[in-house]
Amino acid sequence: MSPPNERPPRGGAIHDLVVVGAGPCGIAAGTAARKAGLATLLVDKGFITDSLVHYPPYMTFFSTAEKLEVGDVPFVVPQGKPTRLEALAYYRRVVEHHELQVLQHTEVGAIEGEAGDFRVRTRSRHGTDGVVQARRVVVATGSFHEPNLLGIPGEELDKVRHWYVEAHPYFDQDVLVVGGGNSAVEAALELFRARARVTLVHFARELDPGVKPWLLPDIRNRLDSGEIQVRWGHRLVEVRPGVATVRDESSGRREEVPNDWVFALTGWKGDPALLRRAGVRIDPETGVPEHDPRTMETAVPGLYIAGVLAAGHDANRVFIENGREHGPRIVGHLNGGARGG
Ligand SMILES: Cc1cc2nc3c(=O)[nH]c(=O)nc-3n(C[C@H](O)[C@H](O)[C@H](O)COP(=O)(O)OP(=O)(O)OC[C@H]3O[C@@H](n4cnc5c(N)ncnc54)[C@H](O)[C@@H]3O)c2cc1C
Repeated sequence: MSPPNERPPRGGAIHDLVVVGAGPCGIAAGTAARKAGLATLLVDKGFITDSLVHYPPYMTFFSTAEKLEVGDVPFVVPQGKPTRLEALAYYRRVVEHHELQVLQHTEVGAIEGEAGDFRVRTRSRHGTDGVVQARRVVVATGSFHEPNLLGIPGEELDKVRHWYVEAHPYFDQDVLVVGGGNSAVEAALELFRARARVTLVHFARELDPGVKPWLLPDIRNRLDSGEIQVRWGHRLVEVRPGVATVRDESSGRREEVPNDWVFALTGWKGDPALLRRAGVRIDPETGVPEHDPRTMETAVPGLYIAGVLAAGHDANRVFIENGREHGPRIVGHLNGGARGG
């Protein structure tokens, strides 16, 4: 078995399928292609499942393990919902089991050419440029390219984070969490339990509808009791050393709160530039790359998309549970309409 590596394949081999992005949905596309006997290469600018590598280290998935399975490799964990560590081990095992060739730490900067003769331009982490040839290409680059910035004074300060890792460093400090979704709620609860003084700020008057049901009783009790402070209908408008300013959206009244750290957990967005440069139209409203959802093929013949990238700005619409189905759908189309994988 050829282990995942960082060197472009020798001798300019043309691949039946190149998958840009070795996240769970890119891996699902790769396993479907391998099972259909296609010469397949995955390319990732980071590690395999790089997005999961950067998730909070102690997180547990909200899906049960079987809902995260790809390539018909069983994912068994005693407690039902896997941890990040278990998911990382699982996806490594899937890559090994299907002998998937993955070019890690290699960023794809452009996709040129046409069906039957695509040239995928790569750059290794050492800055070496390369070209990979492919008959068909799948882009599965996810939606964690850059955070949705607040665009306020002080957002560039070191005390402002768009990514939550763990709570310990914030013990006995004033922490403001911006957002009303799962990431904001989980971070607020963990920070509260690590004895940070937490204030949740949300422009809406209640939590987002997608918050996991098992989190609701806990967060509601903390908010109702004042153990976690909340400013409903408010926005964070400025951050300065030692203080943060929030504004009531209805009255316009500003309030300064003591503050050491800000977690702006307002979501992330993907990078459609690669697709746009390859000639794929991106819907300006939704951010969705134009494609046929039955086959995942874009308007550029032979160029497909897979995974959360297909959801545009609404990353809650596609996740591993349903994004993993894109790969078999694509291979089914490559095989002339029969569902493969
Ligand atoms: C805290 C948290 C908990 C979650 N829990 C669940 C859950 O329980 N169940 C569930 O179904 N989903 C869950 N999700 C969502 C899920 O993680 C994503 O939907 C999933 O990662 C999407 O998979 P993907 O393969 O489409 O994209 P990603 O996993 O983001 O993978 C994209 C890959 O593309 C690579 N890449 C990007 N650009 C380039 C480029 N130019 N060149 C080469 N490589 C590139 C990246 O390095 C990355 O490895 C959770 C998300 C978070 C943040």
